[in-house]
Amino acid sequence: MFLENDRNLNQGRGWIEVICGSMFSGKTEELIRRLTRARIARQKVEIFKPAIDTRFDEQNVVSHNENVIQSSPVQHSSQILLYAHQVDVVGIDEAQFFDDQLVSVCNKLATSGIRVIVAGLDMDFSGKPFGPIPALMATAEYVTKVHAICMRCGNLAHYSHRKTDEKKLVMLGETDTYEPLCRSCYLKAQNETTKMQHTDKEAL
Ligand code: ZN
Repeated sequence: MFLENDRNLNQGRGWIEVICGSMFSGKTEELIRRLTRARIARQKVEIFKPAIDTRFDEQNVVSHNENVIQSSPVQHSSQILLYAHQVDVVGIDEAQFFDDQLVSVCNKLATSGIRVIVAGLDMDFSGKPFGPIPALMATAEYVTKVHAICMRCGNLAHYSHRKTDEKKLVMLGETDTYEPLCRSCYLKAQNETTKMQHTDKEAL
């Protein structure tokens, strides 16, 4: 369980927290949990997400278990600097879809005294580090990696396996497109796909 720092407002320093993991790992739930607690502490909170993530709802950050919190969709990470004034806490969801400038944006916010909480996928469906998340993990004070449950064996999962052979990187998905898998089930699934592709070629 993540326990917040006491905010020492005289010190005038913020920090960055990263919440990352695969799909269905509860990243957004954890982001909403922390932001709700900041609101209970009467801190001013602003939430942003990339305008690309229109899943479920235009204006809100919605988690899979339907927790909702008001958010502002932005086209480019630099817009966050314009909108986030006079706030104590900035939350950013689906951060993997932002441009690389998000890293310096978050660091500027933290240096100006704001607590920045960023949630996002750490790896894409092919297992590669995703967008600005790896650099954010490196520069953040706190990194929390959350896990899903492997859909095939019940172990902890940290891969988001895409069940279709669509190659596009930005594909917003639900349970019918992605499944969280552990390392060994993910490798097995990849081998199955390679075998299937070979069989397809032989059939031609
Ligand atoms: Zn497994």
